[in-house]
Amino acid sequence: MNRRSRPIAIHWFRQDLRLSDNPALTAAAEDHDILPVFILDTVNAGDHFPGAASRWWLHHSLNDLNRSLDGQLRCYRGDPEEILRGLIDRHSVSAISWNRCYEPWRIKRDKGLKAAFIDQEIEILSHNGSLLWEPWDVLKDDKTAYRVFTPYYKNGCLKSAPPRPPQPRPDGLVLKRIKAASATIADLDLLPKIRWDKKLEPYWEIGEAGARDRLNEFLDSGIEQYREGRDFPAQALVSRLSPYLHFGEISPHQIWNTVATQAPTTAGDSFLRQLGWREFSTYLLFHFPDLPKENFQKKFDAFPWIEDSDRLELWQRGKTGVPLVDAGMRELWETGVMHNRVRMVTASFLIKNLLQHWRNGERWFWDCLVDADLANNSAGWQWVAGSGADAAPYFRIFNPVTQGKKFDPGGEYIRKYVPELENLPLKNLFAPWEAPKEVLAEAGIRLGRDYPLPIVDLKASRARALEAFKEI
Ligand code: FAD
Repeated sequence: MNRRSRPIAIHWFRQDLRLSDNPALTAAAEDHDILPVFILDTVNAGDHFPGAASRWWLHHSLNDLNRSLDGQLRCYRGDPEEILRGLIDRHSVSAISWNRCYEPWRIKRDKGLKAAFIDQEIEILSHNGSLLWEPWDVLKDDKTAYRVFTPYYKNGCLKSAPPRPPQPRPDGLVLKRIKAASATIADLDLLPKIRWDKKLEPYWEIGEAGARDRLNEFLDSGIEQYREGRDFPAQALVSRLSPYLHFGEISPHQIWNTVATQAPTTAGDSFLRQLGWREFSTYLLFHFPDLPKENFQKKFDAFPWIEDSDRLELWQRGKTGVPLVDAGMRELWETGVMHNRVRMVTASFLIKNLLQHWRNGERWFWDCLVDADLANNSAGWQWVAGSGADAAPYFRIFNPVTQGKKFDPGGEYIRKYVPELENLPLKNLFAPWEAPKEVLAEAGIRLGRDYPLPIVDLKASRARALEAFKEI
């Protein structure tokens, strides 16, 4: 077919902000000119509109994508149905391509759009760009969904067809250049009014090339020690790929295949297993769409949570007086992420020592994490609370002092994020309230003035949590 007369397809970028290994884009580009579109959906997202840190990431990611598209990315804010309909009418569009999303609100929206556009004889090219295994393909023998990770991963995923190889950038991508009345990326208003985001910039190289660099760096310097090192927050032995995966600047297929070929070792397998956890969270969210709001285990509905906004705020600000918890909350504030081990410790502290509902923590993480992901965040919080699928038992309460000694044995992580305690000897760093007065004085610390006294007694609050659990 003559290039000039090729039909036009909109490729609607959502959580696939990349050109390589983008199956929907590649399929559409084969016989269409592509009109690349991003829509900030202000109508359907409800409570799951991206939080402040995610919006910051999105802003930069869209700029990067736009550069790769020669400045042709058309951005809009509002109701996708109205916006797409307008573009279809104005530019004689015959198809829309997208990679599937799995959040319940997006599934509902996309189903509605698909039905409406197919009625209008618009072809919908919908592909899988963000999961290694489709949630409906991995089921138990009785055709119901798995609820436990290990059988899901071992018997379900690893015994299914292996993840497909990644695809290169579409060869014959021809962009449809239009003078559409679209917003600029700046008009999407994703950046905060008070520019706190500046502090995040040094930590991240956002975009498709940044994701590839991050993966290569991890393969060069982290992966071989990943299995033993992944629990130590002071060490750079984790991949930090989570925000890139969330926004689709890299696909799990690209990671899986690169790791499987370049690091076919036990270390590589242990890393791939974590990608399995990511799949499992999305799988759970797909099969149990109430996961972000409702306890997966209903008995937790009767749990006697305490509402205490003052303590919640002290937790949010990293001022609980418990060093590992404060270090984690401040890492989050400072960098937009928190190490996984510390996510578990800070979450356990909020839920079990402060007896606050996991949803309070989930909301704060949603707003502050650059990798905030509905599936991973809800599953992570419910896992720690004990209310989730395959969750840690409620009675397993992380002790932030022992966790600190075990996983931050040199105290580097705490000292980095809680500099008030810099001069405290290692022996006292994890529980300053137990340090002798003269040691505190020598380190220049008066508790309650330079660093808070703990807002709860760890032992008593642990006992209180276990009592509360007995009630349900
Ligand atoms: P790596 O250790 O390098 O792992 C590689 C990838 O595997 C990650 O990028 C991630 O995609 C996936 N992964 C690793 N651990 C998990 C896990 N436990 N669950 C699901 N996927 C995992 N992850 C998010 O991406 N977004 C969230 O909003 C989120 N919220 C969480 C909240 C709580 C309370 C907890 C306990 C965990 C949460 N996690 C979340 C999971 C995990 O902490 C992060 O994925 C991980 O810390 C990201 O760092 P990394 O990329 O260096 O991970």
